[in-house]
Amino acid sequence: MICFNIPPYIGTEFEYLKKVIENHHISGDGDFTKKCNNWIEKRFNAQKVMLTTSGTTALDMALLLCGLSPGDEVILPSYTFSSTATAPVLAGANLVFVDIRPDTMNIDETKIEGAVTHKTKVIIAMHYAGVSCEMDVIMDIARRHNLMVVEDAAQAIMSTYKGRPLGTIGDFGCYSFHETKNYSMGEGGAIVINNPAYNERAEVLREKGTNRSRFFRGQVDKYTWVDFGDSYLPSELNAAYLWAQLENADEINENRLKTWKKYWNGLRELKESGKIEFPFIPEGCIHNGHMFYLKCKSLEERTALISYLKSHGILAVFHYVPLHSSPAGSKYGRFYGADNYTTIESERLIRLPLYYKIQEEDVEKIIQIVKAFYTMI
Ligand SMILES: *Cc1c(COP(=O)(O)O)cnc(C)c1O
Repeated sequence: MICFNIPPYIGTEFEYLKKVIENHHISGDGDFTKKCNNWIEKRFNAQKVMLTTSGTTALDMALLLCGLSPGDEVILPSYTFSSTATAPVLAGANLVFVDIRPDTMNIDETKIEGAVTHKTKVIIAMHYAGVSCEMDVIMDIARRHNLMVVEDAAQAIMSTYKGRPLGTIGDFGCYSFHETKNYSMGEGGAIVINNPAYNERAEVLREKGTNRSRFFRGQVDKYTWVDFGDSYLPSELNAAYLWAQLENADEINENRLKTWKKYWNGLRELKESGKIEFPFIPEGCIHNGHMFYLKCKSLEERTALISYLKSHGILAVFHYVPLHSSPAGSKYGRFYGADNYTTIESERLIRLPLYYKIQEEDVEKIIQIVKAFYTMI
């Protein structure tokens, strides 16, 4: 059986976990959390980074920091994971879904401005498959309408847009370190705060509404409850697991890209003969090999391909059911304009197995089985 995903494992994780246990500090914000925060800050030249308990809670923090009021509107794509939408709902906002571009599956930047109303406060740019949204256009719209921008960069750590790391372009960036992402801590994530004006509020929000971080820095002589808050600190045990990978971040990134390119070259013939469609990487975007997907002609063809692969021991998957057609999506939001691509493109897309150190012969086998399928139909 070829799995769809195996979480990354370097080999130093046990040693680091042992250190955490021996140091008697298994709660949050210990040495490993600091190492991870500092690494991300330095590597991406980010103003402030804080590990969180998930990509979802990083988004929750970001949307709460945006300071929304009930009835405010947040613009986002419908083709995304539910977390992109639950965060603004938690913050009290209504959702306005905008269609995607069929080439990158990202929000269509040319449709955003038409969706802006006097209630709009935030645009969420989700970088699908680690390939950047058209950030210059999005930031320009935000500037002109006085909106905030949150990057859902859950899939996009290490990717860049015109040389700038994804997650560091909008007001806030959110990474996920779930076991399905490029770097993992089981469950976890990080928020990138690109405007220092939000640093202190973020610390309070993350630390149960207290000014405990200021206390530890010696800036106040006792800590107390100062504002609304929640608990977004991951355990040091999780941070230790992540640190092993961040130390090897380039090796993991290169390994994923190598697999991605192997799929690209191996299936190129099928793309050139018009049987399948490929992902598109716009100029100026460097991606992180998060995902290799292809598009079939129809939902029926995709269903047949998935079961053909399965019958050969290969697990391939699809996602997402567009949020605007889900029970919660229709309750909390509306779709602006026409759904030209969101639904039909989502029905054709299939993701192939891709994880750190996937065996080359497995990738070769998957390529051969996909090709065999297309000789039959
Ligand atoms: C994985 C993912 C999330 C959520 O991350 P978790 O760490 O699983 O909470 C949010 N948005 C997108 C686009 C994702 O792919």
